[in-house]
Order: sequence, then structure tokens, then C-alpha cells
Amino acid sequence: MNIVVLKETVSGEQRVALMPDAVKNLVALKAVVSIESGAGLGAARTDDDYAAAGASVVADRKALLADADVLVVVNRPLADDFSRLKKGAVVLGFLRPLDEPHALTPALERGVTTFAMELVPRITRAQAMDALSSMATVAGYKAVLLGANRIPRMFPLLMTAAGTVPPARVLVLGAGVAGLQAIATARRLGAVVEAYDVRAAAGEQVRSLGAKFLEVDLGGIQTEDKGGYAVELSEEALKRGRDLIAEHAKTADVIVTTAQVPGKHAPVLMDEAAVSGMKRGSVVVDLAGATGGNVTLSKPDQVVERDGITLMAPTNLPGTVPVHASQLYSRNVTAFLSLLIKDGELHIDMNDDVVGPSCVTHGGKWMNQRVASGLEATRPANIQML
Ligand code: NAD
Repeated sequence: MNIVVLKETVSGEQRVALMPDAVKNLVALKAVVSIESGAGLGAARTDDDYAAAGASVVADRKALLADADVLVVVNRPLADDFSRLKKGAVVLGFLRPLDEPHALTPALERGVTTFAMELVPRITRAQAMDALSSMATVAGYKAVLLGANRIPRMFPLLMTAAGTVPPARVLVLGAGVAGLQAIATARRLGAVVEAYDVRAAAGEQVRSLGAKFLEVDLGGIQTEDKGGYAVELSEEALKRGRDLIAEHAKTADVIVTTAQVPGKHAPVLMDEAAVSGMKRGSVVVDLAGATGGNVTLSKPDQVVERDGITLMAPTNLPGTVPVHASQLYSRNVTAFLSLLIKDGELHIDMNDDVVGPSCVTHGGKWMNQRVASGLEATRPANIQML
């Protein structure tokens, strides 16, 4: 079985899907691993590092695609790449099946089997494959550094002969994986941290990191589903949260927003008035930019200045920490691949409780009900549904 890794084509992407250590583990499972020359350079890994780990390094991208039994990617391949794969080949990576399902039609038409890391169920058995959590961890960490780098002051409390420097104040909105990492990072840098989340369960985690949890009376409504994820709130409940946030935003030096509701537009947590109420020199880092943003004024991948306040909404922070992001990601995908490899051969068991739910297309059919619903409105007549 030939596992192929290509150089990522998305602009500015520095990550690589497999690091050399992961290659060694796959070779130990009797797989053959081939990598496009230069694919690891953004993550500080050379062709020699890959060769030493047991991979074949190949310059011809088209030949690699044609030979691939499994193509492992960070970002979804181009339509042209799908068309060069063999029928029955497997593609594994962040494929954005829920927000851009139609972009996977070329894979469906080619008879390619696609597995999306976004769909890996968050059950205990699949924890080692949870690439969303890995990338959220990196993003939460880096968001705080971006804010710290931008504000015109220091983070820690300092008592010096020239006077006392008070600590910076950081407000984190959404205390899931990214938010908790942002809190931990801001605390390590010495900031005083407050955080808000609609899930009451997040309160204990926030406090255990030494931050203050902001609570608001939402009238006892249900804020999370059975899986522990936030649900979409009513406008009234959102407004109560926004009022609380606007009050605490006035004293914050850095605000990191991470609030998401799976499969939905990100909730708006700060409007223009809330931003205008902030201090000059303060910074907002909106990590929900890819799903519409938590802050009305922020624009994906742009720096917006308003009355001395800076708003940033970087959509690929993990790509700016390519060594560790790639290391975590390649461990996640290797753990998933180990479910597909038996005696060095590809063996796909759709009844497996991790493999089946992660599959998007297989044998010319859409395999995931959530993806199928997203496609339904504009479904071309020739697409067969399960
Ligand atoms: P996410 O990225 O979907 O959302 C980020 C945070 O935004 C969540 O904490 C959510 O509650 C919050 N949020 C949503 N709407 C909000 C609003 N209007 N105001 C304020 N906050 C709002 O979530 P995530 O970080 O991927 O994880 C969320 C939950 O899943 C957490 O409980 C986490 O511990 C859990 N989780 C479990 C596993 C596992 O069991 N393997 C893995 C990862 C995460």
C-alpha cells in the first residue's frame, strides 16, 4: 500500500500532513510512504529527513497522485488532484465537508473514498485522532501571542525600582479547546484572565486555570446538547451574553474570541458598540473568522483598526506554528490510518465506529447524512445518495 504526501498548495500553508517520525511508524506497519520533494520544508523537515525515515522522495507530483493508494493531506486537494487519483484511492485530511460539500464532488465522481478529520467522532477511542482539538490548541496559544505582540504594554505584573507595572487583562470568549489554551497561555504570561462560555461545565475548567468565569442568567435555557457542544441560542440569550461581554470588554487589553456552534454560523458576541467601548491600544483576536466571526467588525485574515483598537481574524493560526501543528496532526492522521491498514494492505471497515462516521464519499456515493443534507438543496440529478 502506497501512502502519498504532497506539498500543500493553499497559499501560506506551512504544515505537512506527515512528519518523518510518523513516516517511520507507517513503514513499521508495512506501508510504503512516498513524499513530494520539499513537502516538509515549511515544517523544517528536509527530503533527507524523510529518506532517513524510510520514505521515497519524488519530484513528480502527477506520478505520485497516479500511484497513491492513500493520499494524506492537511487541506482538501484541488479538483485536478482528485481527477488524477486511481478509482478507489483514499484521501484523508481536513476536507471541509460540512461548509463546502460541493467541493468534494470531483472525489465522488472519481470514485475516491474520502475521510474528513472534521468528522472523526469525539469518542474516547478516537481521542488520538482528534485533529480539531490539536489545531484548536495551537490556535488558542498563538492567538494570545498575537495579542501580546500587538498591545503597547507588557503582560506580567512587575514591581521595579521605577514603579509597579500592573498586569494585562485578557478576556477569552468561548472556553472550549482553543479558549482554554488561550487562558492557560495568557496566565503563563502573567495576565489577569476572565472568560465567558454558555456551557456551565466550562466554568470549572476556567477556574482551574486560575481565571475568573463570567456568569450570566440565561433564564435556565438549555445551552448544550447531549454531546457536550453548545447549541444555537435565542436572540434574547445572545443579547444577555453580549451585554455582559461589552461591560468586561471596557477594561480588557486583549480579547480572544473562540465561540463556535458546530455546523452553524459563529455567534456574534461583540458588535460595533462593544468594540468602541474598549480602551485605545487594545486588541481583539477573533478565531471564528472562518465561520463568520464572533465580532461584527473583524474581517478574515485582515487587520482592521477602529479608534485605536486593532481587530484580527486569522483563519489559519496552526499554519503559523508548522512544526508542532504538523507533529500533532501527523500523529492524529497516523492513528486514523492504523485503523485502515491490515498486514500492510488497505482494509476499510465501514462498520467501525470511527471509520464509518468519518467517511464522506465511497464508491460514488455520499456516505454522511450531515454532508448529504448540506448538499440537498442544489443536488445534481446524477448523484446517488445512501
Ligand atoms: P467549539 O469549537 O465548537 O466551540 C468553542 C466554544 O464556544 C465552546 O466551548 C462553546 O460552548 C462556546 N460557545 C458557543 N456559543 C457561544 C456563545 N454564544 N457564547 C459563548 N460561548 C459560546 O468547541 P470545542 O472547543 O471543539 O469543544 C467543545 C466541547 O467539546 C468542550 O466541552 C470540550 O471539552 C469537548 N471536547 C470533547 C472531546 C472528547 O471528548 N474527545 C474532544 C474535544 C472537545
